[in-house]
Amino acid sequence: MTKPSVAIIGAGIAGLTLARRLNGQARVTLFDKSRGTGGRMATRRGERAAFDHGAQYFTIRDSRFHAALEPFLEAGQVQAWASALMRLGTDGTAERLADRAPRFVGVPSMTALPKALAEGLDLRLGCQILSLQRQADGWHLSTSGETCGPFDLVVSTAPAPQTRLLMPFARTELQALDAVRMNGCFTLMLALTQGTQPPAEAAQVAHPIISWIGANHSKPDRDAAPALVIHANNRWADQHIETPVETVRDAMLSACRSLFPGFDWDAVLSVDLHRWRHANVDVPLGQPFLLDADRRLAACGDWCLGNRVEAAFLSATALADALEPQLAKGS
Ligand SMILES: Cc1cc2nc3c(=O)[nH]c(=O)nc-3n(C[C@H](O)[C@H](O)[C@H](O)COP(=O)(O)OP(=O)(O)OC[C@H]3O[C@@H](n4cnc5c(N)ncnc54)[C@H](O)[C@@H]3O)c2cc1C
Repeated sequence: MTKPSVAIIGAGIAGLTLARRLNGQARVTLFDKSRGTGGRMATRRGERAAFDHGAQYFTIRDSRFHAALEPFLEAGQVQAWASALMRLGTDGTAERLADRAPRFVGVPSMTALPKALAEGLDLRLGCQILSLQRQADGWHLSTSGETCGPFDLVVSTAPAPQTRLLMPFARTELQALDAVRMNGCFTLMLALTQGTQPPAEAAQVAHPIISWIGANHSKPDRDAAPALVIHANNRWADQHIETPVETVRDAMLSACRSLFPGFDWDAVLSVDLHRWRHANVDVPLGQPFLLDADRRLAACGDWCLGNRVEAAFLSATALADALEPQLAKGS
């Protein structure tokens, strides 16, 4: 019996989790428009330093997430980030936040985990899926240069607004997708001269423009070059998502200068900015996945359950639980 074929759009934590679960029972092909895996678990390597410019860390609360990560914890590709988590106020106050759960990171960069998860999978990188066409033999996926298929099932793990545009779901699923809200974000990346003391190692910031500052080099086994990662406040980012990046960069730098007057700003060697159109989940779907068994379409990702790496894993795991019995029947 020929195994069913499954196309998964997106090689972030959700797509990789799903692909690993279904691989074997189905012929799985994973497509991602980026040059690397990981999606919003991202690392940018600049000339002077490396920056985890998406997810800063993740927590492991669910036992299934822990079990799935066990081999990578043992191999040291996932390690705890021990820096104290602070909350900084606009008035210069600094309060240590209680550790509700240990914070974990990929080692030596955030992308180490997705890279390890991708091993052995049929992965097509730099491959943006532009549309899906249903033909008698199954789904065909169009990229800018070719058409791939047929596939018995197509799953999108792209952020909800992109899944909404791409997937030819029935009205019920499209209405559910319309109710999901995601926020934008900007990430400012500063490379510093050796020995510079960062304003904080890991801190939430209560400020209308800035929400987070982290010292990338304080994470385990990082590149020694000191590097700061600073996230914008989501609401402010949404209001400025179409603003020229130079203007956003200058506004964030100016906010940081007033927040951290004691920091040695002459130690900044380079400044870079990344725009995330769909960074964080504001209003989730409220159910673990979407599945249209008649059309043979599905979707999962963090936006189904919440705003975290673990939510992406749990969404993909729930979809795999639902699909496995069907795939075992060869349907
Ligand atoms: C700035 C920022 C800070 C964050 N901080 C944290 C944090 O501290 N802790 C935490 O737990 N989480 C954090 N998150 C959230 C976390 O990164 C996400 O919850 C998680 O990575 C989502 O995984 P995913 O697989 O659902 O989606 P994604 O990682 O977004 O993966 C979707 C993939 O789909 C691909 N794609 C989209 N459209 C197409 C297409 N048409 N064709 C092909 N490929 C396509 C994308 O390239 C992407 O790789 C943060 C996110 C951001 C952006």
